[in-house]
Parts: sequence; C-alpha cells; structure tokens
Amino acid sequence: MSLSTFERNEVLEKMASRPLDLLVIGGGITGAGIALDATDRGLKVGLVDMQDFAGGTSSRSTKLVHGGLRYLKQFEIKIVAEVGKERAIVYENAPHVTTPEKMMLPIYKKGTFGRFSTSLGLRVYDFLAGVRREERRVMLSRKATLNKEPLLKKEGLKGSGYYVEYRTDDARLTIEVMKEACDRGALAVNYAKVDELLYDHDKKLSGARVIDQLTKKEYRIYAKKIVNAAGPWVDTIREKDHSKKGKHLHLTKGVHIVIDGKRFPMKQSVYFDTTNGDKRMIFVIPRDGKVYAGTTDTTYARWPIDPKPTAEDRDYILEAINGMFPSARLTAADVESSWAGVRPLIQEEGKSPSEISRKDEIFISKSGLISIAGGKLTGYRKMAQRVVDVVVSELKAETGKSYPESRTINIELSGGHFGGSAHFANFVHEHSQLGVALGLSESEAEKLVKKYGTNVSQLFELIRFNQDEAKRYQITPVVLATVQYALTYEMIVSPVDYFTRRTGKTLFDIRSAKKLAQPIISYMADRLNWSEEQKNKYSQELNIAFEEASLLSTPQTDDHEKDAV
Ligand SMILES: Cc1cc2nc3c(=O)[nH]c(=O)nc-3n(C[C@H](O)[C@H](O)[C@H](O)COP(=O)(O)OP(=O)(O)OC[C@H]3O[C@@H](n4cnc5c(N)ncnc54)[C@H](O)[C@@H]3O)c2cc1C
Repeated sequence: MSLSTFERNEVLEKMASRPLDLLVIGGGITGAGIALDATDRGLKVGLVDMQDFAGGTSSRSTKLVHGGLRYLKQFEIKIVAEVGKERAIVYENAPHVTTPEKMMLPIYKKGTFGRFSTSLGLRVYDFLAGVRREERRVMLSRKATLNKEPLLKKEGLKGSGYYVEYRTDDARLTIEVMKEACDRGALAVNYAKVDELLYDHDKKLSGARVIDQLTKKEYRIYAKKIVNAAGPWVDTIREKDHSKKGKHLHLTKGVHIVIDGKRFPMKQSVYFDTTNGDKRMIFVIPRDGKVYAGTTDTTYARWPIDPKPTAEDRDYILEAINGMFPSARLTAADVESSWAGVRPLIQEEGKSPSEISRKDEIFISKSGLISIAGGKLTGYRKMAQRVVDVVVSELKAETGKSYPESRTINIELSGGHFGGSAHFANFVHEHSQLGVALGLSESEAEKLVKKYGTNVSQLFELIRFNQDEAKRYQITPVVLATVQYALTYEMIVSPVDYFTRRTGKTLFDIRSAKKLAQPIISYMADRLNWSEEQKNKYSQELNIAFEEASLLSTPQTDDHEKDAV
C-alpha cells in the first residue's frame, strides 16, 4: 500500500486484520531500512511510529553520509571500513538524496595533525572505505587551500587534506527508504504508538497494542517477530518487555545552527578541530544559499522528544566558527535557525560523549524482542541486513521456511530508479526541460527534479492540473504540487511534517516557510476536512516549530543535562 495520508486508517486496519511476519517499532532510518530489507525477502511487514517518520533522530543529524573520519583517531577501524563503503552504496541507490561533497581538512602549525599524519589518515580512510580512484584524497598547498576557501584563518595555515564525503537530507532519505518498502508491500503508519507489548501463554512476544495518536483508536497488531528500532526510545520499549538488563543507552545531544550564506559566504565545506581545547571536530557546510555548522556532543538525560538547542550550544558552535574563520565575526543575531538531535549510543563506562563508539548492537530478550541500538544513518542498510538475518534465521528455525539473503545492496530507493548514479545528470537535464515545457523556470524545474528524482513525473502531473487551485490558495503550482504529493505519497499529517521533514524549509528557508504557512494550512485543512479547532491546533504546532528553530527565541539552560542515563 502507498504512504497516502488518506489511507492511514485502512493501513492500520490491515495491519491488525491478520498476523504479520514482522512488526517494526520505529520509523526512523533504522526501522525503514529493516522494513525494506525484510519486505524484499518476502516477509509480511508492518511498521509503526509514534511520531512522524524520521521525527526522532533521523531528521536531526549532520545530514552527511560519511565514513566517520574522526573514528580513525579512536582506532574504530571496523566502523570506518563498513560505513565508509556504505557511502558509495547509498549514493548509487539514491543519487537524488545524496550528493558528493568535497570536504576540506585544514592543517595548522601546532594543530592536532600535521601534513604527514593528515595525508596518511586520509589515505587509510580511502583504503578502508574502498574509495574510487577519482574520489581519493589530495593534499593541497596553503595557496590552493586559500583559493578554495578564502575565509579560513591564515595565521599558521600550512595546507589541507581534500577528500569526498556525501551530503544528504536525512528525513528525505528515510522517507524514500520507507516509500520503497511500501511500494514492495510493507505497511507503514506514522503517529501510531506502541503502548503495550502483548505475549502468548508461553510468555513469548506475540504482538503490540498500538494507539493511533490522531483518533486515539486502539489496534492489536500481532506478528511472528517484533523488532524494536525505536532509536533513543529503545530502552523504553525494552522496559515494557522487562528486559532492560546489562547494556543500555547513553543519549547525547547534538546541535546545529544555520546562517545565511550572504552573511557568511563560505565556498567550501570544512571539517576542523575546535580551538577551545576539547579536541572535538566541527563541520561547516554550505547548502542552498545557507551555511550550517555543528555539532555539539553532550550527555542528555531528558525524555528525547524534541530536544532543544540552548544558548550554550549555539555559543560553542559560534566560537568554533569564529576561531577558524576570524573575519566572519558571527554573533547570535546571525543565527537564522537551528536544530537538536539525540544520539542513541550504547553506554561505555568512563568515556566522554564524543569518545563513545558509534557501533550498533542487537539485543534479543527472553520473550523474543529483537532490539537494535547505536549505529549511524550512513550504516542503516547494513544494520537492517543484520537484524533481518536474525529474524529470518529464527523464522527458519521455528517454521522451516527459508528466506533469501539480503539484496538491498542493489535496490534503488523510491525516486532513485535511474539505473545507477551515472545516469543521474542526464536525467536531471532531460526532465528539467519537461518542467520548463510546463511553464516552470529552469531553476525551479531543476530543483524539483533533483529533489524528487524519478518520482518527479508525479509532481509534473499534479502541476499540469493544479493551476486554478494554486491561484485560489495564492501559492505557486510547484509549491502546491509538493503539498499534494506529500499528502498522496508521503503521509503528511500536519503542516510541521511538510515544512520540517518533507521539505526542510523550517531549517534551511525559514523565511519562505513563514510566508507559505497560512496558504498551506488552509489547503491541508480543506483536503483533510479539519475542524476550526484542528486547524488552530496545527497552526499553533507550526508556530512552535518555527519558534524552536530560531535559537534566539527563549534558549534554555543546560542544567538538566549533567548526568548520563
Ligand atoms: C546531532 C547528530 C548528528 C548526526 N550526524 C550523523 C551524520 O552526519 N551521519 C550519520 O550517518 N549519522 C549521524 N547521526 C546518527 C544518526 O542520525 C542516527 O544514528 C540515526 O538517525 C538513528 O536512527 P534510528 O532510526 O535508530 O532512530 P530514530 O530516527 O530516532 O527513530 C526511532 C523512531 O522510533 C519511534 N518510536 C519510539 N518509541 C515508539 C513507540 N513506543 N511506538 C512507535 N514508535 C516509537 C520514534 O518516534 C522515532 O521516530 C547523527 C546523530 C545526531 C544526534
């Protein structure tokens, strides 16, 4: 079934109507990846998320598909080798949500790494990640470094290492994985919370009581296997199963800030050591006329819904940027928007948040609950493969039925059906012309094609017929088509889903988001038959999201974040 907003109830009814092979709790990147892998291997899969898809950590990352260069410092060779290799696979299967991004690692006199060690480190990184010849690292002279990024601090600069990472839109990557899973037969619903786990007479896990957060209707969904991919809430689900013993999560918060590109006209992504002596590294990344920077890494001991950036977080990042780009002289007033996310890491005694390994691990409880914790967005496919391997081997032992090996290495994601990344540029060129023929400007058409990939034909179809409606709501046919598409194919329930996770406007274009808010709320209200009360509730929710994205509103203090969980 598709991810249509209008079919939410039917999907829930269907999930509850017959036992599934697998129920996945959590619709972040981990759960979406598991749903795709398992569905492709022939399992009947259902997935529920208590918030919007990617509403947890999977819309709040640094938005890089990266190998984790800094983990080399910690000798996490296995992680670097695995996620490093995954970069190219994610790119190959979804070039419309993954873009190669040249990254600069500046080298300074008395810096942590000199020219030799940087060169060697990047060489090892290329080797472990199996990087293609044309993308391997090069070492740049001081002059070449400054040519690429004139705003860098000049004093003590010796040159830089130059290598390739990939930029993504984490929330869109998640939704494309989910759409592909649903196109292949998975059932998935957002705003549906697992409230209670259900057991058979042998105390074996057999299902879950799920509450639709919109209607408060209750469903009993039964499945042969249940996977807990609840990210920062993995332990909460383990507690419901009375199996939170031994290893547990350590949540750490990471914050990013966004600055307008006119105020901070960086040309080049840079990854550098902070100058405040805490030995952490920060990314500064130009993107669509904005620059975003992060991240922080502090222990977080609160309920992980909607973590908030604080003034301290913002000032830490600003200080780091001003240390590396002294002419920028950025202040709090330059920060346009921001976001915070919580990393679901596995606790390691005696380690600081930045030192804790990003490795993933599977826990299987006595009742049969399979929990997956830790990991990275980049490594989601491999994590999913490992989890589904466990699921199918248990099913085989119990039923005798065999399932194929994972095939996701070759599965193109929804919107990514180009026959390989090599065809992407040509596709963008040809389909942009189709957009222009519909009356779109060249840049409008190109942006749309790049964002929606091979699904763009559905948007073009909507634009062909929505001109009068767009006039009525005083928005452009392109904007209206993106809302219509999100309602029909991406299960948006509230305007926040659209502005924050389907389009990223709250984070990267908050001014235009504010202008578009009222017309889009009116359109959604008409299509979804909202009462006046619902309309007010959703408008208020969107205003709060806009306020929270703006760090300058009412930053909180950090006094609640002292203890590990
Ligand atoms: C600041 C920061 C920067 C990062 N940068 C990067 C990066 O650049 N590259 C990278 O590869 N990784 C990065 N990561 C790591 C990456 O974002 C996470 O590993 C990944 O998003 C975790 O995904 P997940 O699906 O496991 O968790 P989540 O995305 O949090 O998904 C779990 C879902 O479970 C749902 N859920 C919980 N309880 C229930 C319930 N009872 N019923 C139903 N649903 C439930 C939640 O609503 C949530 O949506 C970063 C993380 C942070 C915090």
